[in-house]
Amino acid sequence: VFITFEGIDGAGKTTQIQLLASALAKANVDVVCTREPGGTQLGDQIRSLLLSRENQSMTPRTEALLYAASRAQLVEEVIVPSLQAGKVVLCDRYVDASIAYQGGGLGLGEEAVARMNEFAVNGVLPDLTILFDLPLADARERLRQSRGTAHLDRIESRDAAYFSRVQAAFARLSAEAKSRIQIVDARHSVDALQQEIYHIVWKHIAR
Ligand code: C5P
Ligand code: MG
Repeated sequence: VFITFEGIDGAGKTTQIQLLASALAKANVDVVCTREPGGTQLGDQIRSLLLSRENQSMTPRTEALLYAASRAQLVEEVIVPSLQAGKVVLCDRYVDASIAYQGGGLGLGEEAVARMNEFAVNGVLPDLTILFDLPLADARERLRQSRGTAHLDRIESRDAAYFSRVQAAFARLSAEAKSRIQIVDARHSVDALQQEIYHIVWKHIAR
C-alpha cells in the first residue's frame, strides 16, 4: 500500500508521518517512511540543489525537472522494492506536490507538470493521499515560529501569492480525485490529527 502526504509547508506533515509510522509499527505493520525531494542518496543531493538559497537563477522548468528526477530515483530505489516486499510506504509529498507547487505555484500548468511526472513515476501512483488543509496565514505563522524567517529555504521564502496559487491547485486536485485524496484539518491538535489519520489509514489498509 502506497500512501502520500500533501499540503503546504508548515501544515505538520512530517510530525504526523512519524507518529503514524510508530503507531503502525506497534500494530505490526511493516512500514517504510520516505520523503521527497530526497529519500535516496542521489535524491538528497538534488534536494540540496533545490532548497539552496544560492540557486536563485534556477528556472521554473529546471525546478520541475529536478523534483521529477528526485522522484524517479525514489520510485525505483525505494518505493517499488518496498511495495514488492509487501510493505506500507508512507511518502512525505509526491506528484501532487509538483502539480501544486510547480504547476500552480510557478505557473507551469498543472496538466504539463502532471504529464511530465507520468514519465518520472512510470505508473507508480499512491493508493491513498492525506491532504493537510491549513489556512495560508496559519501555515506562514507556524513556519515563522518554528524557524524564523532567516532560516526559510529557497522555496519557503517565496511570497504569499505563490503559496495561495499552490493552495488553489491542491484544492482543485482534491476535487478531481475525491476517492484517493482525504482532506484533514491541520488546525486540529497533534493528538486529534494523529487519531484521525490513523483511522483513515487503518481503514484503507484493512480493506
Ligand atoms: O516537504 P519539505 O518541507 O521537506 O519540502 C522541501 C521544500 O520543497 C519545501 O519548501 C516545499 O515547499 C518544496 N517543494 C516543492 N515542490 C515539491 C515538493 C516540495 O516546491 N514537489
Ligand atoms: Mg517544509
